[in-house]
Amino acid sequence: MRIDLHTHSTVSDGTDTPAQLVAAAAGAGLDVLAITDHDSTGGWAEAAEALPPGLTLVRGAELSCWSPDGRGGHCTVHLLAYLFDPEADAVVAEHARARAQRRQRLQRIAERMAADGFPVDADALLAGLPPGSTAGRPHLAAALVSAGVVSTVDEAFARFLNDRGRYYVPSSKTPVEAAIGMVGQAGGVSVLAHAFAHHRGPTVTAGVIRELAAAGLDGVEVDHPDHDADARAELRALAGELDLLTTGSSDYHGSNKTIHLGQELTSPWVLDAIVERATGAELLVG
Ligand code: AMP
Ligand code: ZN
Ligand code: FE
Ligand code: FE
Repeated sequence: MRIDLHTHSTVSDGTDTPAQLVAAAAGAGLDVLAITDHDSTGGWAEAAEALPPGLTLVRGAELSCWSPDGRGGHCTVHLLAYLFDPEADAVVAEHARARAQRRQRLQRIAERMAADGFPVDADALLAGLPPGSTAGRPHLAAALVSAGVVSTVDEAFARFLNDRGRYYVPSSKTPVEAAIGMVGQAGGVSVLAHAFAHHRGPTVTAGVIRELAAAGLDGVEVDHPDHDADARAELRALAGELDLLTTGSSDYHGSNKTIHLGQELTSPWVLDAIVERATGAELLVG
């Protein structure tokens, strides 16, 4: 069983439409795919409609949250949410708030770069995003590639857009414990995404993950392309201690990243545990 539980479509900052994403998943030999666009369930219907025979779809999302970092400060964390009720009032309100805030924030980042002389047009960038989509830094990175400022999206992050860069503006301030509660209330299962992706920017300590587990977190994403061997070993041990589920996923973004579908995988028994706990939505079988 090949199970990939973290992927993005054009509904957020991926480059495959939801229909292309499920087709690519079948083409990559996956048995199970989760669609987890940032702060949106907008791709669920199209992915379900286009689901190829033999592929199972897990409907999910990735929420940008704010967390104590365990060192006296705060940092951004991403929370994967699976099989929650997309019509729960709190979910609808939070997604709408996050998407509006993300547009303003991307505009601010673009304006700061423009003020420094970079050939970016913040208004044109936002106007060019697919209607209803969630704005993200990869959109600006792609614009920088088009403008010839950098040659790849990764280079744009390495030089300008990473969390420690001079143009960085955080994306959201939803407290992560509130988000965990919201996902649980909506019948979903929550998994902390790429918690120890240290090269991306500030990360939380193990102590914070202990607190989140006590607050109802269901799992941690252990096998992720941005986790080195030490990060994986530390997270796996912590998950064992705290009785958290452990997932593995590619975090595929289409051509915005070099990562391919199925590059990291989740065990079937972990998927079974997610499905058993979830009451907000069901698996869809193609
Ligand atoms: P945003 O949602 O706007 O904060 O942008 C986050 C997205 O940018 C994530 O989904 C990552 O895939 C991508 N990203 C974050 N940090 C990096 C990095 N250092 N290099 C490449 N992509 C990154
Ligand atoms: Zn993304
Ligand atoms: Fe993420
Ligand atoms: Fe992601």
